[in-house]
Amino acid sequence: MQSNKDTQIAPPLSGSTKVVGVFGYPVAHSLSPAMHNAAFTALGLNYIYVPFPVPPERIGVAIQSLASLGVVGVNLTIPHKELVLPYIDELTQEAKDIQAVNTVHVVDGRLIGDNTDGRGFWEPLREQGFSIAGETAFVLGAGGAARSVVFRLMREGAKVVLVNRTRERAERLAQDVANAGVGEIAVISADDAEAVERALRRSKLFVQTTKVGMRPDIGALPEIPISALHSDLTVYDLVYNPVKTRLLEEAEARGCDTMTGVKMLVYQGAIAFQRWTGVFPPTDVMERAVLKGLNAPKEE
Ligand code: NAP
Repeated sequence: MQSNKDTQIAPPLSGSTKVVGVFGYPVAHSLSPAMHNAAFTALGLNYIYVPFPVPPERIGVAIQSLASLGVVGVNLTIPHKELVLPYIDELTQEAKDIQAVNTVHVVDGRLIGDNTDGRGFWEPLREQGFSIAGETAFVLGAGGAARSVVFRLMREGAKVVLVNRTRERAERLAQDVANAGVGEIAVISADDAEAVERALRRSKLFVQTTKVGMRPDIGALPEIPISALHSDLTVYDLVYNPVKTRLLEEAEARGCDTMTGVKMLVYQGAIAFQRWTGVFPPTDVMERAVLKGLNAPKEE
């Protein structure tokens, strides 16, 4: 349902409009401009969020121009999250942990690199009073998204079990976590069905961080024993298109609490928004803008 907050008129662009945006390549399908601009409008903030198609070989020049252009900050998406690292003046602990930057803030001409994915993942759970300290979290996948999830869960005191199709990648992530002094995580082979099932049965949280189930493969299920999903388990699928994945449908049918990837998308954006403006935005407005964007016919 639309609320008044969605229908307010955006402040007109003027000489004092502040600019933020996203660097990506491609960037045309990013949902971030709709999400952030909806929140600026709802709050009557004189900001605009612009998509910038920056080819990978231009990332250095583009990021180093931000201060000269008076741009307040940018998000970074594929392929820039790691490529940008050499150009950043200061990294937050999260960005250092994950070795990737998704948010840059220009402060006194210096580029501060943050990564809001891990907090964006955790915040919707925390808001519900969810706690994982001392409990087992089962994470499937070991790519970029998994890195942010695993470091966050470790910092929340979870016992993390990691399973990935390519075991070596999971082991590298476990090694990086150990090197960061955040603790030990257990890696299980994806083909050890019994160990995977045992780990899922004793888990409080299952985070699906692989690309399995993404549109157009909406019928696909990750290779885990679905019968091991139990009613004390919260199932969080980072895939946000479709919003309700086949995994989440199966989890609901087994009485699990569920969380969609849209929540993480919205909250990682909300945390960046707060860093740039000093104001935590209305996440309901941002979520409606994302859902509208996901349902809109795509321009090619
Ligand atoms: P990535 O770095 O490319 O990692 C992909 C992961 O998926 C790897 O663990 C890979 O396993 C696994 N994988 C891919 N295809 C698979 C298959 N057919 N069977 C089993 N495993 C498979 O990608 P990413 O950036 O981490 O993104 C992963 C997913 O998270 C995407 O769906 C993305 O949209 C979503 N995501 C959501 C948010 C959000 O805000 N909700 C944020 C970031 C990412 P191997 O190592 O074996 O290749």
